[in-house]
Amino acid sequence: MGEAVRARAVPYRSAQVRTPGGRVLAQLPLERLERKAGRPELLISRPYLIDALLARLDALGEVTVRLGENVTDPAALADGYDLVVGADGINSAVREAWFGSGSGPRKVGSVAWIGIADLDSAVHGETWGRGRFFGLTPIEAGRTNWYAAVPEGTDAAGLRALFEGWHDPIPRILERGDPATWLRYEMRHLFPALPTFVHAGQAGKVALVGDAAHAMTPNLGQGACTALLDAEALTRAVTHHGRLALPAALRAYDRERRRTAQRTALASRTLHRIVSTERTWLRDTAARLLPG
Ligand SMILES: Cc1cc2nc3c(=O)[nH]c(=O)nc-3n(C[C@H](O)[C@H](O)[C@H](O)COP(=O)(O)OP(=O)(O)OC[C@H]3O[C@@H](n4cnc5c(N)ncnc54)[C@H](O)[C@@H]3O)c2cc1C
Repeated sequence: MGEAVRARAVPYRSAQVRTPGGRVLAQLPLERLERKAGRPELLISRPYLIDALLARLDALGEVTVRLGENVTDPAALADGYDLVVGADGINSAVREAWFGSGSGPRKVGSVAWIGIADLDSAVHGETWGRGRFFGLTPIEAGRTNWYAAVPEGTDAAGLRALFEGWHDPIPRILERGDPATWLRYEMRHLFPALPTFVHAGQAGKVALVGDAAHAMTPNLGQGACTALLDAEALTRAVTHHGRLALPAALRAYDRERRRTAQRTALASRTLHRIVSTERTWLRDTAARLLPG
């Protein structure tokens, strides 16, 4: 997978946090992360990642992928399979069937608008305003990914108004962009955190991964990354313990991933609170003190 992902990914080497007027408040510690890891942070668009995953499955052979099928009775899957993996997102039917409705999606009061601009932006990172922020990340030559987090109820016209007068290229992107191509997401997270990601009993053996297990606000850009780490850890645990010891494999997976993933989700939610605050002076002063 690594080679296929690297072929479509772009390195993320320089990004700043700015005020709406364009003043730099902080550097994102990308250089430090690169030095520590010995390789740069990489960004990849979702369609490229999905293509790479499907190509890998194809290369493995003997894997049946059935697209466009809605599972309406997840509990019935346990009769036909050794292990059910709930990778069905924040509204997970698998979670509901085996873990109940004690934890569920909860709104955080903001919506995210996202889009792709046909330009190369000279600046990347986030720009923090009062109760709203705008982000810019590279995708490939000539295209820039953008996202904006704004109060619920903001429509496309309202979005343009909220970022009028902000530094370049933000107003330019919104004025020239076609709202029909923009996507709007309600920002939600899973609350409260689940007491376990796994079930092994009479009703079957089940593991939750990704948003089904720990949907988080997008502030840290870690939701999909965390889902991939879950999938890798679950695969490793099942391979290590074997098909005949699935309960032990599930316990090992839960031990390895649950606390870490839930800490990431909490950090992302906390960052959302900080970034969306109306008290910008305190936030911006703290941001200026961060090490680069
Ligand atoms: C605005 C925004 C920006 C984000 N930015 C980033 C980022 O920069 N980096 C990052 O790592 N993450 C980011 N994320 C988070 C990321 O998108 C999610 O964490 C990730 O998609 C979770 O993957 P998943 O496979 O668990 O769930 P999903 O991507 O939600 O996939 C679940 C799949 O299950 C299918 N499904 C659901 N129910 C059923 C059913 N009953 N039967 C059959 N199929 C079903 C769905 O159709 C879907 O294909 C962002 C999220 C948002 C909203």
